[in-house]
Amino acid sequence: MTQPDDKPRALLAAALAAAERGWPVFPLRPGGKPPALHGEARCPRTGICARGHVKWQERATTDPARITACWQAAPFNVGVATGPAGLVVIDLDVTKDESDAPAGAATFQALCERTGQPVPATFTLRTASGGEHRYFTAPDGLRLSNTAGKLGENIDTRAWGGYVVAAGSIVHGRAYALTDDREPAPLPGWLAALLRQDTRPAAAPPAPVVRSASRAALAALEREQRVVVAASEGERNHALNLSAFKLGRFIAWGDLTRDAVEEAFQWAGESAGLTAAECRATIRSALDASLRKARPREAL
Ligand SMILES: [Zn+2]
Repeated sequence: MTQPDDKPRALLAAALAAAERGWPVFPLRPGGKPPALHGEARCPRTGICARGHVKWQERATTDPARITACWQAAPFNVGVATGPAGLVVIDLDVTKDESDAPAGAATFQALCERTGQPVPATFTLRTASGGEHRYFTAPDGLRLSNTAGKLGENIDTRAWGGYVVAAGSIVHGRAYALTDDREPAPLPGWLAALLRQDTRPAAAPPAPVVRSASRAALAALEREQRVVVAASEGERNHALNLSAFKLGRFIAWGDLTRDAVEEAFQWAGESAGLTAAECRATIRSALDASLRKARPREAL
C-alpha cells in the first residue's frame, strides 16, 4: 500500500528513470498534464529567461542534479520532451464522449491490417484515461512533428514540438502505468512514411465565409488553425484559446465574420482532439475577451 508520503519520491524516481533512458524531462503540474513552467505570455524575462523566453522543450533535462532539485520542490508529474528524446510516441486514445468513432487502438490495428503489417510490439504505457502510448525511436535524420488524426481517428503522434506524460505520473488520481517495458522499437518505415506525408487531416477545413477578408486575415486564420491542430494533448485547449484570441481583432475590423472564425476554430479544436463542447466554450470566451480589447486598426 502506497503511503501519501511516498508520492513525491515515486515521482522523482519516475523522472530519473526517464532521464536515465536519455529522455529529457520537465515538470508538469502536480496531478495534471500542463507544463508547470510559465508560458511565453507570462514570461517574467528574468532568470533563465533574461535573454528571452526559454520554452519547456529547451528546458527539459537529463541532468540528475537538476531533476532532483526540481522534484524535491513539489510532486510534479513528469513530462518527456519527445523531440529531443529522439522519440515518436503513438497516442491511441479512448473514444470521446458523445462520439461513435472507434477507439485509437482499434483504428491502429485496422491500419496495420490494411497495410499488411504486424502491430509493432514496443515500450507501451496505459494512460490515465485508459488509452495507450506506444514509444518508438525516431528515424535518423527525419524531424517528425506532432500529428492529430493523421494516422486515423483517435490516433495522435508526439514528436518534435510535443511531449508525453511519463510512466509513474498520476493524472486525476490515475497512474500512467507501464504495460510493456521492452526497449522502444525503431519506428517502422511504413509508419514514418505515413507521418512524413504532407497531408492535411481527412476533413478539409471549412472555407471561411468572408465579408471583406483581407489576405492577412485569411493567412492568420489558416496559420492559427494549423497551430491548434498540431498542439499536444496538454496544450491544445490553451492553444485554441490563444489562437482564437489573436483572430478576434479581424472580426472587430470587419475582415472576418464571427461565425466564420468560430466555425474554423471549432474544426481545428475538434481535429486536435477536444470535444465539441470544450471547443465552443473556449472559442466563445476567447473571442469575447479579444473583442472587448480590440483597438482600431490604425492604433497598431
Ligand atoms: Zn520565460
